[in-house]
Amino acid sequence: MTTKNSSETRFLLGEADLPKFWYNVNADNPVPPAPVLHPGTKEPVTPDFLSVLFPMDLILQEISTERFIEIPEEVREIYKLYRPTPLIRARRLEKMLDTPAHIYYKNEGVSPAGSHKPNTAIPQAFYNKIAGTKALTTETGAGQWGSALALAGNFFDLDIEVYMVKVSYHQKPYRRLMMETYGAKVFPSPTKHTHFGRSVLEDDPETPGSLGIAISEAVEIAATSGGAKKYSLGSVLNHVLLHQSVIGEEALKQMDMAGEYPDVVIGCAGGGSNFSGIAYPFLRRNLLEGMKTRLLAVEPTATPSLTKGVYTFDYGDTAMMAPIVKMHTLGHAFVPPPIHAGGLRYHGMAPSLSALYDAGYLEARAVPQLATFEAGVQFARAEGIIPAPESNHAIRAAIDEALDAKQKGERRVILFNLSGHGNFDMASYQAYFDGKLVDYDYPVEAVREAMASLPQVPVIA
Ligand SMILES: *Cc1c(COP(=O)(O)O)cnc(C)c1O
Repeated sequence: MTTKNSSETRFLLGEADLPKFWYNVNADNPVPPAPVLHPGTKEPVTPDFLSVLFPMDLILQEISTERFIEIPEEVREIYKLYRPTPLIRARRLEKMLDTPAHIYYKNEGVSPAGSHKPNTAIPQAFYNKIAGTKALTTETGAGQWGSALALAGNFFDLDIEVYMVKVSYHQKPYRRLMMETYGAKVFPSPTKHTHFGRSVLEDDPETPGSLGIAISEAVEIAATSGGAKKYSLGSVLNHVLLHQSVIGEEALKQMDMAGEYPDVVIGCAGGGSNFSGIAYPFLRRNLLEGMKTRLLAVEPTATPSLTKGVYTFDYGDTAMMAPIVKMHTLGHAFVPPPIHAGGLRYHGMAPSLSALYDAGYLEARAVPQLATFEAGVQFARAEGIIPAPESNHAIRAAIDEALDAKQKGERRVILFNLSGHGNFDMASYQAYFDGKLVDYDYPVEAVREAMASLPQVPVIA
């Protein structure tokens, strides 16, 4: 490969380079994910069942095996508010680490909501709008997904109702206000609006809530709305991963501008959407063109669904109302340890990512939270951007790769996804600076116990 622009720091694409197609990994996936099952009957779901929650265009994307799916012009118009996002060579970080490695990062923190999540919120709002949906319900934990959907709902004139995990609702008032500024309604979950929320509150009025509970509430509201409201999910599902592929498609072109090709591509993984967004277009090159890029998903040791979870069928939510999927899971009743400040709290991992990891096409690593904040602070001091605590997991792994390359005297090319900025997450940084965070290893025994409550599914050939 040429080194035409190797003295530059920022690799910027113009509007004309904004991708026209999303990449669907399931066209090339050597280990296709298992069918999605109905939570009641445990039989493969029908589009009819899914259509209670999602518009038909998204259902068709969910099950599609077409390699490239066209991005609608209306979506591209809104993407242009912040895409293509910059690819930056972290030269100052390289110097600080005194490493021969080259470190590049894709900055998804430049979106109006501050993360990669609008990449899917915008098309989800669009497809709902053209299907006649009036309102969308959703959940949010740290508030990034709720902000992204609030932003997108505003552009397409949809009402947005966000069930926000109660502890975050109180700890992160500015995220809530951001959603309200875009016109969304935000409720601390569990609420009294739903059967499920009321049952959780009866058992434990002081519950901090969880992502699984908030998903159940948002699903219940949509499912019982008689069609007026649909539900929207910000990660895990195939159509979400599809939309996030714009990250990697742009990065392929930008690495080409830099005259380099990554030896390793890194992303943090909660449900798996930003990691697969940057990694799957490079996986396509591995699968179809024989490239050998390592693809590394990084998760917290407190919520280690890939590295300690079991690859099996589980419910997508705590109330067992969401579809059952085969994925790496810690069990649907998982409640993350309250000491964990770094996000990435979902109990499961995207089905395609789980299948690819299980078959050895992807790598995964779990990192303890103190080391992630240490990496995030180092990155902020070198490059100026304060990363989202989630992104700090990717940065930790990128720094470790760069240090390993230094030790081995290798000129490794490292690309990671900076999934978001941390400007609304300063309370987590404060907890870190105040010495209030500790490392936590989620116990294997807890995973083993949780497996007792998995759905009993018929053996599927
Ligand atoms: C939501 C979020 C994540 C985790 O979600 P994935 O689907 O795994 O990408 C990571 N980083 C940021 C900044 C987020 O907002």
